[in-house]
Amino acid sequence: MLLLDLSVPGRRGYALPKLDVEAIPVADLIPESFLRESDLELPELTEPEVVRYFTQLSRKNHGVDVGFYPLGSCTMKYNPRVNEDIAALPGFSRIHPRQPESTVQGALQLMYELDCFLAEAAGLAKTSLQPAAGAHGELTGLLIIKAYHKFKGEAEQRREIIIPDSAHGTNPASAQMAGFIAREIPSDPRGGVDVEALKAAVGPQTAGLMLTNPNTLGLFDENIEKIAEIIHDAGGLLYYDGANANAILGIVRPGDSGFDIVHFNLHKTFSTPHGGGGPGSGPIVVSKELVDFLPDPIVEHTDGKYHLARPKHSIGPVKAFYGNFAVMVKAYAYIRHLGAAGLKAVSENAVLNANYVMNQLKNDYHLPYDRLCMHEFVLSGKWQKEQGVSTLDIAKRLLDYGVHAPTIYFPLIVEEAIMVEPTETESKATLDAFVAAMKSIAEEAKTDPDKLKAAPTKTPVKRLDETKAARNPVLKYKRP
Ligand SMILES: *Cc1c(COP(=O)(O)O)cnc(C)c1O
Repeated sequence: MLLLDLSVPGRRGYALPKLDVEAIPVADLIPESFLRESDLELPELTEPEVVRYFTQLSRKNHGVDVGFYPLGSCTMKYNPRVNEDIAALPGFSRIHPRQPESTVQGALQLMYELDCFLAEAAGLAKTSLQPAAGAHGELTGLLIIKAYHKFKGEAEQRREIIIPDSAHGTNPASAQMAGFIAREIPSDPRGGVDVEALKAAVGPQTAGLMLTNPNTLGLFDENIEKIAEIIHDAGGLLYYDGANANAILGIVRPGDSGFDIVHFNLHKTFSTPHGGGGPGSGPIVVSKELVDFLPDPIVEHTDGKYHLARPKHSIGPVKAFYGNFAVMVKAYAYIRHLGAAGLKAVSENAVLNANYVMNQLKNDYHLPYDRLCMHEFVLSGKWQKEQGVSTLDIAKRLLDYGVHAPTIYFPLIVEEAIMVEPTETESKATLDAFVAAMKSIAEEAKTDPDKLKAAPTKTPVKRLDETKAARNPVLKYKRP
C-alpha cells in the first residue's frame, strides 16, 4: 500500500495562519522552462495517518530495536540513543562545510580528538576520518600502500596484495580497485594464516597483506608477529581490516602487533546504526611513516587552534569535505561516554557472550574450529544438511522465533557456515532464548524437516523465491 493510495483530497496534516503578505506568483521567481507542467501528485493525509502508515511499515521488518540480530561480521548491536541526541545538537547539525575555520573550532576539536582516540585504539599515529565505509577505508589504505611504494620507486614491481581465504569479500575487491593483484593464501587447520604458504607467496612483487584479526572465523591468529615479520622483511606493508573491532578494544592494538594501516567501521564498532545503506564512516589510522600520504585534509592542532591541513604527499581527497560528520559525533559521544575502561568492558563482554553461546550450541551444530573464539564464531549446518535441511532453512526458521538470522554461507571456507555474533549489548536472557531456539531448530531438522523448508510462516512476507527475487527484482511499487 502506498501513502498515495490513502490520500483523500483536502486532508491536511498541518495548520498554518492565514497569509498576511502579498504572495509573489511562482512564475515571477522561477524561469518558465523550469516550471512543472502539471501539479505534483502528493498524498493528502492527516498527521496520525502518516504516523500510523510509517510505523506499520517499519513493523514489517526485523531490526535490532525489535529483537536479537546476531549477524556475524556485521556487529548489529544496540546503539544508545544519547549518541543520536548529541549528533542532532544544532552546533553540530547546522554547520556548513564551507564555514571559516575560526567559526567551527568545536567541530574540528571533536574530529581531532576522535582522531587521537582511534589512533590510541589502533596503536598507530594519525587518522583520516574521510572514508565513508569500511570498504572505502580499505581502498584508501591500499592507495596509501601504493603511494608509499611509488615514493620508494618500487610501485612498478610491487603489484600483489596477499589475502587469506577467510577474508571478507571487500578485501580482494578493494585490492583490485586499487590496481593490485589479489593473491589468495590458504588458512591452516586451526583457522589462522598458513605461515608456510605465506612464506612461499611473498617476494619482491609483494605490496602488502590484508588481514582481519580476529579473522572472520572469530579466531585470533597467534602467529601475527611472525606474519608481520615475513611481510615486512619482504618490503610489504600490513593492512588491518578492523571493521569489527569489538573483540580487541583496550586489549590488543593492531599497531603493536605490526600493522601499518587500520580501518575501523564507526558504524559497526562505534555505535552508529547501520544496515539500511548508510551513512557510515570507515576512518583509517596509519603509522608515523605513512602520515604524509593521508587523504586531504587532516585536522591538526597548533598554537591552541584547530585547522585543516594537506599532508605533504597526500593521495588527495577520497570524499567531499571531511567525511560523514554526524557519524563521527556519535562515535565521539560513545567513546567519551564509555571511557577507556568502558571500551575494554565492551570487548570483554562481546567475547564472553560469543563463547557462552558457542559452547551451548556445539553439540547441536558442527563446530569446525573448536577453540576459544573472540566476538563471533562460525558453526556449520552440515549435520542438518545430512538430514535434508539446508542452512538457509535454519536461517529462515529463526525468523519464526523472532530472531534475525546469523550471517550464512560466509566465510566461504566453512561448509554451510552459520556465523554468529551475539555482541556485548545482549542480556543473558536473550542469549538463552537464542540458544533455545537454535536447539529447537536442530530438533525440528530431525523430526519435522518440512517445517523448516516452509519457514518463515509467522512473518508478514513468507518464504521467497530467492532466484526469482535476484533475477527479476521488483524495485518499484506498481498500483495493482
Ligand atoms: C563490514 C565489513 C567490511 C566492509 O565494511 P562496509 O562499511 O560495509 O564497507 C569489511 N571487512 C569486514 C571484516 C567487515 O565485517
